[in-house]
Amino acid sequence: MTEPFVNPLTIPVIGFCAYSGTGKTTLLKKLIPELNRRGLRLACVKHAHHNFDVDIPGKDSYEMRHAGARQMLVASHVRWALMTEDKQEPAPSLPHLLRQLEQDEVDIVLVEGFKKLALPKIELHRASHGKPLIHEVDEYVRAIACDDATELAVDIKRLDLNNVEQIADYVCDYAKQEQQKIDCQRLPLEAPCGCETDTSKTLSVGEGVNHILSFVEPLAEVEEAKIELAVNRVLAKDAVSPINVPQRTNSAMDGYAFKYQNGDNNEFEVIGEVLAGHSFDGDINPGQAVKIMTGAALPANVDTVEIRELAQESEGRVTFNSAIKAGQHVRQAGEDIAQDSCALAKQVRIGPAEQGLLASLGFGHIPVYRKPKVAVFSTGDEVCQPGQPLSGVGIYDSNRYTIMGMLRKLDCDVLDLGIIEDRQQALEEALQQAGEQADVIISSGGVSVGDADFVKMALEQVGSIGFWKIAMRPGRPLAFGQVGKALFFGLPGNPVAVMVSFLQFVQPAIRKMAGEANYKPNLIPAIAAEDFRSRLGRTEFSRGHYQLNDKGQLEVRSTGSQGSGILSSMVKGNCLIVIPESVAQVASGDTVYVQPFAQLL
Ligand code: AMP
Ligand code: MG
Repeated sequence: MTEPFVNPLTIPVIGFCAYSGTGKTTLLKKLIPELNRRGLRLACVKHAHHNFDVDIPGKDSYEMRHAGARQMLVASHVRWALMTEDKQEPAPSLPHLLRQLEQDEVDIVLVEGFKKLALPKIELHRASHGKPLIHEVDEYVRAIACDDATELAVDIKRLDLNNVEQIADYVCDYAKQEQQKIDCQRLPLEAPCGCETDTSKTLSVGEGVNHILSFVEPLAEVEEAKIELAVNRVLAKDAVSPINVPQRTNSAMDGYAFKYQNGDNNEFEVIGEVLAGHSFDGDINPGQAVKIMTGAALPANVDTVEIRELAQESEGRVTFNSAIKAGQHVRQAGEDIAQDSCALAKQVRIGPAEQGLLASLGFGHIPVYRKPKVAVFSTGDEVCQPGQPLSGVGIYDSNRYTIMGMLRKLDCDVLDLGIIEDRQQALEEALQQAGEQADVIISSGGVSVGDADFVKMALEQVGSIGFWKIAMRPGRPLAFGQVGKALFFGLPGNPVAVMVSFLQFVQPAIRKMAGEANYKPNLIPAIAAEDFRSRLGRTEFSRGHYQLNDKGQLEVRSTGSQGSGILSSMVKGNCLIVIPESVAQVASGDTVYVQPFAQLL
């Protein structure tokens, strides 16, 4: 009998339902201050009879509305009210109404009325009224507050209608739990925090990532890198600036420099010229100026520059007709980076901007963490080496190349172990060798149910291994373990599943190991340009292409066929569309998160 309801907000909503006369408003009047005392900021939504009004005839706002304003917003410094004339059928939906609230200013919405909706509710029940119980017909009733020992049909949380503090406790717990769920859905790759991971159960992507990260220790060894080779390395110590940047106060423009005089900056005698890399050592008196080039040090006693385009110079004098502000067009010494300040914090991956910044401070070498060493091999008798003839039943190895490519983007030292035949002895030897040389070992294939035993047996001989079921598509089976000190990732065999699981599990692990402080992938909201189907309880990673639409909004559409063997979908796409476990369907126009992979970081 309930009608669908989806909370459009990023804060929890809870309803209160009861037959009239039960004392809903009486309770809410006591409950609201009790919740406020516990620090919850509240919004209330109330369903009213059809012709209610909150305005008073004769007030300006009332008259303006009656004169035809569809919306009337009346405000003072203590309160504002938005009234909207909306005489159409059907009545506005609860989601529409909720969207009108300032959700950043409140923690939970209490809803009175709208009792037919599939909205989590607390039922209020007074036994002496002899009314039927709502929760018997509404499965969205989460708790019932009653005033006697009424028999309850189902196992449901029972509260005491006369115990406001107990009801407030319940609402606070609900708000906290719902907020956690909402936050998880907002950030679909985050795991609910705090609980132990049981790897014999199906794991969410976030749980799998967190569990893997708990095994990852950042590499401690630090080495010096030449500044010209520093890009993509991870800075191991804070870069403290030995100099001011800029070193000297200088001109931001080509123009004329002079000492600002209150009210009299229109005409100067030009007594010299300063070029970048030179200085002007003469005295400059009030009423005198020097011609100056961008980047040239400002001479002593001079503090203001006017640009050449606004100047007329003739016969050794310059005049300006512009309004001049003291200190304009001047870059102060140290305004970008002050001497002895931390110019770049450690544990950041050095991009071109960071490289340039470090160079601008004069560093010829910088301390960086050692690169992770990663061994990679493929398994499977059907897998053939590119450049060699393809056997009649074979496929060329692509996984090793996507994996090695992604590793090189992460600036790892890659150890290519080639294709290992499906034989336990060969695999054991390869693993043993890799375990001695590498920090991480990555294989692909051989972890699905059919051939799991084979990789499993080899790994059990030389290390430890867990086979995890991850609630994701593509990329369900994942093997994770250790060989000696090295971490082992057994990725699936299908080429798209390999890349998707690398991005989710291997990349954050390697970034953490490499010393980066921020190793989690970035997700960006985009508008779905088409419908996407998923399944509840599983994170779906569709390949998508995001771009700005003609309204200037980021929009994403599918690359087409999504089979986990269709590697061309990764080529066509520039992102993964991440549909979280809690979402079964995304409609065109909804917001989804995308994980860009074009730059793979
Ligand atoms: P598996 O998990 O070993 O059963 O492999 C699943 C699918 O991925 C099979 O169709 C394999 O042929 C394919 N596959 C396995 N390894 C590779 C590889 N290195 N390159 C391309 N495809 C592979
Ligand atoms: Mg195989």
